[in-house]
This record gives sequence, structure tokens and C-alpha cells, in this order.
Amino acid sequence: MGILEKVADNRETKAWYGDIPVQHLYTAGVAGERFLSEIRDNGKILGTLCEKCNFVYVPPMIYCERCFARLTEWVPVSHKGVVESFTVGYIDMDGKPLPEPRVMAVINLDGATSSLVHFLEEIEPDDITFGMEVEAVFRPKGERKGSILDISHFRPVG
Ligand SMILES: [Zn+2]
Repeated sequence: MGILEKVADNRETKAWYGDIPVQHLYTAGVAGERFLSEIRDNGKILGTLCEKCNFVYVPPMIYCERCFARLTEWVPVSHKGVVESFTVGYIDMDGKPLPEPRVMAVINLDGATSSLVHFLEEIEPDDITFGMEVEAVFRPKGERKGSILDISHFRPVG
């Protein structure tokens, strides 16, 4: 089809035959890279503080979602926090049954205002309660890759 031809039938545009050359580079962004590097290199979880809103973002943001201020103050938060919500997954991303159910939890770390989502393990799903205390379990330093999975999972405290 030439550039001056008009599509008279939309069904003609539903198929593309051949290859499309595509390149991409995905980064975690400015805040995400520092957040993940601190976890990998120092085992620290950092957030960013908006003083005006008195709000600590974890994962960190470089702009406040509430007042749009640029955030430059980084603050460490605890490895411990509480379960705000959770869900139990029984299938994988392809719809295949998981060998064991996996729990994803929304966790509010002590010192943070926002919450992050991560795996919750070392507990049966029926025993999880809202507000229960959990802690981060870090992978050994030599196995960390600069991924959120450098925190292997969270587990109940004690
Ligand atoms: Zn703000």
C-alpha cells in the first residue's frame, strides 16, 4: 500500500507481515536506581520525603504526587512493617497452576507513608492477618542484582 492510498476496509490493517525492528532499554528511573542500588549494596531501604506533605514515599518518587514538589531528601526506613492487604495467587502469569500458592502483600514499612508490594512467605495464607508485623529477608550480598527481588520476600517477625 502506498502512502497516498486510502484504507477503505479496516480489515486490511489488522495484519502486519514481516519483522519490525525494535530496540528498547528499560531503566528503573532516577529514584528507582538509587532505591535498588541501596538495597543491593548496603541492604538499606530508602524512601523520599516530601516535607510539605509530611509524606515518605517507598518505593521512592522524585516528585510528590500530592503537591508536585521535587523530592530530594532521602530517608532510610525500617526493614520491618505491617501487612495492609494481601492476595493469594494460585496461577502463574501464563495461567498455569503454581506448585504452591504465592502470597503478594501490600506492606507499610515503619517510617514510610506509602506502601510497597512484595512476596510474603514463611506463613500459611490462612494465618495472615491485617496489621501483622513482617520483616524483609534480603538475599546474600553476593547474590544481589539490583532488583527488588534482592529482597527475597517478607516474613512474619519473630
Ligand atoms: Zn508533597
